Amino acid sequence: MKIFCIGRNYINHAKELNNPIPKQPLVFMKPPSALLINNKPFYYPDFSENIHFEVEIVLKICRNGRHIQPEFAASYYNQVGIGIDFTARDIQAKCKEKGHPWEIAKGFDNAAPLSNFMSIDLFNREAINFRLEKNGEVVQKGNTKDLIFSFDTLICYLSKYFKLQQGDIIYTGTPEGVGPVQIGDKLEAFIEGKSLLECEIK
Ligand code: ZN
Repeated sequence: MKIFCIGRNYINHAKELNNPIPKQPLVFMKPPSALLINNKPFYYPDFSENIHFEVEIVLKICRNGRHIQPEFAASYYNQVGIGIDFTARDIQAKCKEKGHPWEIAKGFDNAAPLSNFMSIDLFNREAINFRLEKNGEVVQKGNTKDLIFSFDTLICYLSKYFKLQQGDIIYTGTPEGVGPVQIGDKLEAFIEGKSLLECEIK
C-alpha cells in the first residue's frame, strides 16, 4: 500500500509557514512503516528537537484506477479517517534550504498515526469538520470546505502519476495551527466532534 500526503492544501497553513500557495497539489509519500495505529504512543526520536503535529483528514482508496476523470473520482474512495503527519520541522527546514527531498523529516518510523476508518457516507464530504486537541486544548481546527484541492481533484491528480490501488491512503493536508509536541503531551483528534485518535508522546 501507498501513503500519499498532500502539503500546503489549506491557505492559512501555507501562509503560517511562509510558503507560497501551490498551483498544483504538492505530493509526497510516507512508507507503510510510518503508520502508527491502535492509539499506540509515539516515542520522540533522538534525531530531532522540533517534532510538529499536523492533523489531517485521511481517505482510503477502494478501487484500483489510473487516469481517473473528475466525474468518477468520488467512486474511488469510500472511507475517511483522521491522522497526524508528524514532521521533524528542524530537519525539514534544512532539506528545504538545500532543495533536497524531505523524506527523513516526514517518513520516519511512526510518523503517521492513523485512526480507524468510517464510511464517508456518514459525512458531507464537502464540509467535514475536524480538530486536534493537545492536552485537552484545541490546537487545530479545520473544515474540508477550505481545501485548496478537493478530494476529487487529488484523486484525479495522483492517478495521473501513480496507479491508485485498493487500500492506498491519502493524508489530505493540514489546516493552520501546527506546532511542536513535547514528551508527556497527549494528542486527541476528532471528526465532527467524535474522538477517533489518541496519541501520547513518550
Ligand atoms: Zn501534512
